[in-house]
Amino acid sequence: MSVLKSPDDTWLRRAAGMVAPRARNESAAMNLVFLGPPGCGKGTQAMKVAEKHGLPQISAGDILREAVQNGLEDGLKAKPFMDAGRLVPDETVVKIVTDRLRRKDCANGFILDGFPRTVPQAESLGWTLAGMKRKIDVVFDFDVPEEELIKRIAGRKVCKKCRVVYNVASAPPSEPGVCDKCGGGLFKREDDNEEAARERFRVYKAQSDELGLYYHHSGRYCKLDGAARVDEIFGKIEEIIGEA
Ligand code: AMP
Repeated sequence: MSVLKSPDDTWLRRAAGMVAPRARNESAAMNLVFLGPPGCGKGTQAMKVAEKHGLPQISAGDILREAVQNGLEDGLKAKPFMDAGRLVPDETVVKIVTDRLRRKDCANGFILDGFPRTVPQAESLGWTLAGMKRKIDVVFDFDVPEEELIKRIAGRKVCKKCRVVYNVASAPPSEPGVCDKCGGGLFKREDDNEEAARERFRVYKAQSDELGLYYHHSGRYCKLDGAARVDEIFGKIEEIIGEA
């Protein structure tokens, strides 16, 4: 009996050169996009996939928060939008993310977390990647009901050092205020209050259908139930990546 027959043997067939790795890209890079409303868990999953596959996790929100903290020009421009829970203008976000994609550590792929959020951002990303002779392998779109998101955001605390996300109600750290993973201090994001969270969700809804449709047509779009267990979602993502 041939060991190459079962669909589970894709890795073997790949190793044997029977399946071109990531045939849609000229390189073997794995380029992933994680979309979804604030609090949907895309950051947590992006971090897990990034760790497992040794890919950089590129969060537009994290880059913007760092720019704000360091008093950079882009940060100063972005801050009022972020504080109000609104989207930072496309021009600013596209520039910081596409600059980041050109860095060396993206040579084997990347995980974009929270970018793009509008169709013009998606188009700019497409052009940038085409210029690098690369394409997106899979777009994962996380779906979670609004009330569950607001609950998650109200209790969210993030590690200052390693960015692991906790929830004081449903997934607290062993010691309050301290990260289990690295011992770093936990903080609450300024925009993680109910008013800003509802506005962020409203803004998200206004763009998400159009963006989902844009990627749906590309054939690399996968909707995930973000209300499922973390390990269940991670398993599903791994399965889909394996087939991509
Ligand atoms: P996040 O950390 O993804 O929740 O993003 C925090 C805030 O950063 C958002 O509420 C927006 O103000 C801004 N932001 C993050 N990503 C984007 C994006 N792709 N386009 C525009 N604004 C963004």
